[in-house]
Amino acid sequence: MITQNPVLVLNQNYQPLNICNVKRALALILLEKAESTVHSKEFIKSPSKSFNIPIVIRLMSYIHKPIHPKKISRQGVLFRDKNTCQYCGISSESLTLDHVIPKSRGGKHTWENVVAACIKCNHKKAGYTPQEAKMKLINKAKKPNINSNYILQSKNIKEWKPFLVSV
Ligand SMILES: [Zn+2]
Repeated sequence: MITQNPVLVLNQNYQPLNICNVKRALALILLEKAESTVHSKEFIKSPSKSFNIPIVIRLMSYIHKPIHPKKISRQGVLFRDKNTCQYCGISSESLTLDHVIPKSRGGKHTWENVVAACIKCNHKKAGYTPQEAKMKLINKAKKPNINSNYILQSKNIKEWKPFLVSV
């Protein structure tokens, strides 16, 4: 059902806020609570009107929403790190996840302690900290601004990407 397709919901200031489905997005547009920012060329028909199918909508008023903790995932980390090893910068499809402070040393499986690493660097770093291994991180590991579920969905929806660049 096309009405179940995901729609990216932006805050009034264009920050990604949420995901809803087409049905909910159309309801928000009809209530004038949101406007369609990006829509498809396809139409969806109701008995009285027809609408372009929304892909990205923007809320008309700013929502103050606390940033919720986002669950870490392999794909989320790889996306955040742009599929590049955070030690040597190589871009690869077969990256591993490295715990910056090794798990054996009490390092946690969190956004702040997990980075994408190539097999070679992961092997070299082994059970050492970056200082001990004399390996420097290209980017400090941090929690993305938005839920990793949005990130995963955005992989298949090219129209969402411009709004997710600040992830
Ligand atoms: Zn590497």
